[in-house]
Amino acid sequence: MGKTSKDKRDIYYRLAKEEGWRARSAYKLLQLDEKFHILKDVVRAVDLCAAPGSWSQVLSKKLYENRKSEDVKIIAVDLQAMAPLPGVIQIQGDITKLDTANQIIQYFNDEKAQVVICDGAPDVTGLHDIDEYIQSQLLLAALSITTHVLAKGGNFVAKIFRGKDTSLLYSQLRIFFEKVSIAKPASSRNSSIEAFVVCQNYSPPIGYVPQMINPMLDDVKLLVEETNSDVNKQIIPFIVCGDLRGFDSDMSYSLNFSDDESTYTYREVVQKPISPAYQEILDKMRTCSLKNGAIVLNRIEEKYSQQKANKDENN
Ligand code: SAM
Repeated sequence: MGKTSKDKRDIYYRLAKEEGWRARSAYKLLQLDEKFHILKDVVRAVDLCAAPGSWSQVLSKKLYENRKSEDVKIIAVDLQAMAPLPGVIQIQGDITKLDTANQIIQYFNDEKAQVVICDGAPDVTGLHDIDEYIQSQLLLAALSITTHVLAKGGNFVAKIFRGKDTSLLYSQLRIFFEKVSIAKPASSRNSSIEAFVVCQNYSPPIGYVPQMINPMLDDVKLLVEETNSDVNKQIIPFIVCGDLRGFDSDMSYSLNFSDDESTYTYREVVQKPISPAYQEILDKMRTCSLKNGAIVLNRIEEKYSQQKANKDENN
């Protein structure tokens, strides 16, 4: 394959190089902004999971345009080191960790951010349930940070993997934002389950106390109790779904996960139906199989007697 084959296959990859963006992802944010105007009149922004930095470049271009540079504040955070970008403050850290969150929060003590964006993606395993689960953990961390730093009326944009829990996620985000849309920009490949939640007009429930929670590690109930907020008690934990055991509900599995099936203990269902609609059919089948059973037994008996008679005759 030649050097230019990717340029032919991926128009946004080619355009990014031509137009000076660090990654083709820049077009996703540009297209989301074209539709939802999330960056209009914004001067303070947070870019979570920002490396290599094309979304920060978009922020920088939009926020410094027609603005006094001393008003603009852009914070970019990523696990990986990122080449410097003029006018963008960088933090290297894990957004699911409290100390990274605290560093970001400190920058916005006086004036809150007007937009938080998160294009975070874990290394994809290819197992959709696990990918979706890890992605939702990132989203949860991003949302927790957002509740600390976003000004009322602000916007939040984050990558999601569309799956069976998308409508649940939608309802949960609606608790915090007046309007939530799920969008797929033209530059996001159709073959990818990636989409973006665009959450507008941040308006948390009255009495909600922002808090960082990692449901994988924390005692969620205890943390929620500490806030003394009835609202938090009702809406936390923000439920993330998925099954880390990675079971595929369409597959067959051996009875014991080890090879030895002989030790498998069969269990009845927890509660059988008391009067199932199919009971009549079951009764009919039972009578029928009893009759059939009797016929089969007679035939075996006949065959056995015949064999015995033949044997006696030969002797
Ligand atoms: N928006 C970026 C751009 O336009 O250049 C691209 C982001 S890239 C798709 C996803 C990024 O998420 C990676 O750089 C990865 O290091 C980062 N990431 C994944 N998990 C993270 C975490 N827990 N904390 C911080 N960054 C994370």
